[in-house]
Amino acid sequence: MVTNSNESSQQTESLNLLTSTQSVIKEALSKLGYQESMYELLKEPLRVLTVRIPVRMDNGEVKVFTGYRAQHNDAVGPTKGGIRFHPEVTEEEVKALSIWMSLKAGIVDLPYGGGKGGIICDPREMSFPELERLSRGYVRAISQVVGPTKDIPAPDVFTNSQIMAWMMDEYSCIREFDSPGFITGKPIALGGSHGRETATAKGVTICIREAAKKRGFELNGARVVVQGFGNAGAYLSKFMHDAGAKVVGISDAYGALYDPNGLDIDYLLDRRDSFGTVTKLFSNTITNKELLESECDILVPAAIENQITAQNAPHIKAAIVVEAANGPTTLEATKILTERGILLVPDVLASAGGVTVSYFEWVQNNQGYYWSEEEVEEKLEKVMVRSFENVYTTSQTRRVNMRLAAYMVGARKMAEASRFRGWV
Ligand code: GLU
Repeated sequence: MVTNSNESSQQTESLNLLTSTQSVIKEALSKLGYQESMYELLKEPLRVLTVRIPVRMDNGEVKVFTGYRAQHNDAVGPTKGGIRFHPEVTEEEVKALSIWMSLKAGIVDLPYGGGKGGIICDPREMSFPELERLSRGYVRAISQVVGPTKDIPAPDVFTNSQIMAWMMDEYSCIREFDSPGFITGKPIALGGSHGRETATAKGVTICIREAAKKRGFELNGARVVVQGFGNAGAYLSKFMHDAGAKVVGISDAYGALYDPNGLDIDYLLDRRDSFGTVTKLFSNTITNKELLESECDILVPAAIENQITAQNAPHIKAAIVVEAANGPTTLEATKILTERGILLVPDVLASAGGVTVSYFEWVQNNQGYYWSEEEVEEKLEKVMVRSFENVYTTSQTRRVNMRLAAYMVGARKMAEASRFRGWV
């Protein structure tokens, strides 16, 4: 097969994501006292479906897209996790992301295993009708392996509540009954939950607050840098700003802004587009690399994978790094940050607020009785505080870093459930 160098470096990076996740799972399971056979079961998803989706484009031509759905482990319950639309999606990446969803579900104690989907496409260059046809085509292609009691999708990078609505409608047409519990992250009018849109950022905010307490400082007045201005990054900047923190840096795919006196977050939120792009409006931008190494107390990578590496980890100035994105820090960088005494709150804990409120949405769909925003927020607060404390205590008592502690907490229930089922 001929691949261009960009494609093959992407594949290598995704493979690294998968192999490094596998190495932490192996270590976590061995610390928990499981045999090698448990690792053999959990190191890869149980199922990965590859689909080809023909879509009629607006110019009349048909373009065929490739998509994936990975289901990591369904011993605890149905699998659950988002669908991303991105030009750099690979099968290996989707596999790693499905494993992380299993861990997240275990950490916040949801009755789910992990799943993840992805389509190789660039939604920034597609029209609304093309995106609708692609979304519906993907659901037709995966319909046999998903469902409210099998595998429940949700939004992820570059997908939103409108895309969830089209997918829910397509699934309901195929099954011939209304199926709001098939997918989460829907618009409120279609059975979405209050608080789902902001849930990932709320969860990250709670983790930042708890981490700051452990390090003995308050959010009020703390300097925060947020890399990425998508759903999580943008809401997080707002919540940090509202909590009295000074957001000194933000970025998008095209560049970064830094002001030691604090940025005008309300203005930036107002001007960002639906893909989180805002820095194009400014000429005095810095690079994403400079942003990560800039002066701050709290650094939040909220964009994509492999951003904090062995190269820049020695230069990070923050006292706390909280991962709002999936997989932003490599294992070598995790080691360097830990050795430097920086408190790293890992993705599988910090970004679990999204799937937690997705679970609340699914519960509300199943019972047909809906909760107020206050009820959702109160429940999310309890789940996140308890989960943070659990991972932090594990890291202290077992003398391991927060990532390994989170993997230990996350893998335990899935391993137990697999054992009780007699699989291992
Ligand atoms: N895509 C989100 C994540 O990575 C949410 C998944 C969900 O809500 O099921 O956690």
